[in-house]
Amino acid sequence: MKDNIDRRVYRCPICTLETPHEIIGHLGGMYGICCTHCRNGSLVWEDELHIYQLRWEDELRDIMQELST
Ligand SMILES: [Zn+2]
Repeated sequence: MKDNIDRRVYRCPICTLETPHEIIGHLGGMYGICCTHCRNGSLVWEDELHIYQLRWEDELRDIMQELST
C-alpha cells in the first residue's frame, strides 16, 4: 500500500473518465498527474484541480442526501 501518494479525482483528457489521479509532482501552480485508469500523464493547473475536486464533492454530497431521504 502506497498511502503517501496524493490522489485527486479529475476527468482524464486521454480516456475521458472521472478517475482518481495520482499527483506525481508539481512546478509552481502546475501539477503533473497520472490517471489510475489509463496510466497517462497530464498537466493541470492547481486551481483547475481544486475546482474539480470541490464540484465532485458537492455532487457526492447531493447523491448522499438523495439516498438518505
Ligand atoms: Zn485516463
